[in-house]
Amino acid sequence: MPKWILICRKCKTEFQHSQISDVGLASLLLADKPNIPPNGNICVCPNCGHATSYQRTDLFYRA
Ligand SMILES: [Zn+2]
Repeated sequence: MPKWILICRKCKTEFQHSQISDVGLASLLLADKPNIPPNGNICVCPNCGHATSYQRTDLFYRA
């Protein structure tokens, strides 16, 4: 299942932000990043518990 991941700023562990539901090739190519408010989205790292604000540009694609 393809997904958007974030990398914790503290421990550098990758963790999942959200899953990409439509898995067709076309939708993969066109997969749009989830909407994140301009002031960022607080996410908590499941590894070290560090909570910080992430922007859309912090999202990475993982197949
Ligand atoms: Zn962490």
